[in-house]
Amino acid sequence: MWQVIGQTRAVSLLQRSLETDSLAHAYLFVGPAHVGKMTLALNLAQALNCEAAEVPCGECVSCQKIASAKHADVQIIDLSHDDDSAETENRAKIRVEQIEELQHSASLPPFEGRCKVFIIDGAEFLSIGAANRLLKTLEEPVGKVVFILLTIDERLLLATVVSRCQRVELLPVPANEIEIALNSNWGVEPEKAKLLARLSHGCLGWAVSAALGDSLAQQRAERLDRLFDIINADCEERFAYAAQLATQFSQNRGLVHERLNLWLVWWRDLLLVKVGSIDSITNIDRLDSLSEMARGYTLAQIRAFIQSIRAAGEQLRQNANPRLVLEVLMLDIPEAGKYNEVKSAV
Ligand SMILES: [Zn+2]
Repeated sequence: MWQVIGQTRAVSLLQRSLETDSLAHAYLFVGPAHVGKMTLALNLAQALNCEAAEVPCGECVSCQKIASAKHADVQIIDLSHDDDSAETENRAKIRVEQIEELQHSASLPPFEGRCKVFIIDGAEFLSIGAANRLLKTLEEPVGKVVFILLTIDERLLLATVVSRCQRVELLPVPANEIEIALNSNWGVEPEKAKLLARLSHGCLGWAVSAALGDSLAQQRAERLDRLFDIINADCEERFAYAAQLATQFSQNRGLVHERLNLWLVWWRDLLLVKVGSIDSITNIDRLDSLSEMARGYTLAQIRAFIQSIRAAGEQLRQNANPRLVLEVLMLDIPEAGKYNEVKSAV
């Protein structure tokens, strides 16, 4: 039983390859964070080593070992969660060493299963040296080994690595499918499931983590509160915020893009409230704040600021000066009319 939810196309592609014994030697799973890449990769590893007639059964010893990361032939290399304090040079060296270990391990026959599987999470973080070493392994396939590279952005990988892999795209899962899955598989109460499904932007893993632990929901609440603070702040405070984000950007680009996305979704919600499409908003738990805030702006102001947020994201992607881009964004925050203060509705 394939456990990944909402990825019918990717699953049927892999299933067909399994049935016709035409699996590729290396795969590249592409899709947003928490969309199900790792679940699918583990499922494929299970299918390749499962002892049941219909694979992956999820219940045999092999499937269970793989699910709990205890199978000797299934190895996960996570490049995305390195120690941030390590020097860039040192980190690059670690990655080369990790790939060298992988090469050695791949040259040995399977230990307890039928097929060795190497899952490389955060493949976009492969250093050039590590990627070139990996390329050698991908170019000279040995039997009974499958490589699965996971990435959120294939443009950051060497083209030569991408071209050696069969690409499998995982698309965001529709909100109603996530809502149903949260409710039936994880027992999340309907109202919470509806909210998390919308907030997850199609990434079930995010919704599940947010449902099981409170830290993601808490983080979102804090970020939204900060967003209100900045909207209500004076120029000086907004500029200090821009400077703070710009510093963050040099350490973790993804975090700043995430923050911009939060802004974008919020202002898109304001637009929807303004035009009366309340059913389509994302932040359904904050409807009161949204309604109150929407009264303070004209439709044109909201539209213009949405454009500004989009433009800022695009300029950051094109390597414009982050501080400048974020300061311009702060200057573009529209002046509210009747609206004075918004209190968080949580
Ligand atoms: Zn099995």
